[in-house]
Amino acid sequence: MLKPIYAANWKMNHGPSDARAFMRAFLDQVPRPSDRTLIFFPPALAMHAMREALQDRHDILLGIQNVHHEASGAFTGELSVGMARDAGARLALVGHSERRHVFGETDEQTAKKCELLLRAGIIPMLCVGEKLEEREAGLTEQVVLRQLEAGLSLLEPEKAGGVLIAYEPVWAIGTGRTATPEDASVVHGAIRRWLRERVGEKAITMPILYGGSVNRGNAKLLLAAPDVDGLLVGGASLDSSNWAAIVTE
Ligand code: PEP
Repeated sequence: MLKPIYAANWKMNHGPSDARAFMRAFLDQVPRPSDRTLIFFPPALAMHAMREALQDRHDILLGIQNVHHEASGAFTGELSVGMARDAGARLALVGHSERRHVFGETDEQTAKKCELLLRAGIIPMLCVGEKLEEREAGLTEQVVLRQLEAGLSLLEPEKAGGVLIAYEPVWAIGTGRTATPEDASVVHGAIRRWLRERVGEKAITMPILYGGSVNRGNAKLLLAAPDVDGLLVGGASLDSSNWAAIVTE
């Protein structure tokens, strides 16, 4: 059995002061969990505050929400993989739906990011998911598998096995509409079968997370669904008590 993963994506919320206050309250409510993995993706500017707040809580991992797809260069306002590692990021989101659909991140860029990150020792969490019109047209698997294929395209099979996958249907992110555990499970199963072809037996232990309007009422049911190994959560991770309840229930 894989340890279930609870990952909080704070998006553009919680700068350094809020992050410190959040962690003070959260850590009081969450004893060191031995049977689950906790990850936070705070804004990059709050990474330092998070590291200070975590102190010896090495059981909680920090990730960065985005990196640039080139290792270095004249890219004002961007953050490199090297900087992310230096700041303490152990993981990085790649291809989050807001990056793809608001900022125009391409499949090619997700591939470059995965390759650069793994070379730097940072675990990519590759996000894939279909838009509502694609689901309604019966294209869910096709879209998701194309994004997977593209995102892992620069990696040898054993490297590709080191990537975490998050299935996040675009229509479910921040909308209050959640995939049913059954719907999530069907797509996760398809992802697992595809990964098996791509990386072999390692695919059995590759965590596949679900994200999209997860809340206190549905988290347990989603996590209990076959092939759902963790949750990637935006809105419901922003309040320390609510997030503490979800990760400890
Ligand atoms: C996300 O940002 O990855 C996400 C799933 O957001 P929400 O939980 O708010 O839908």
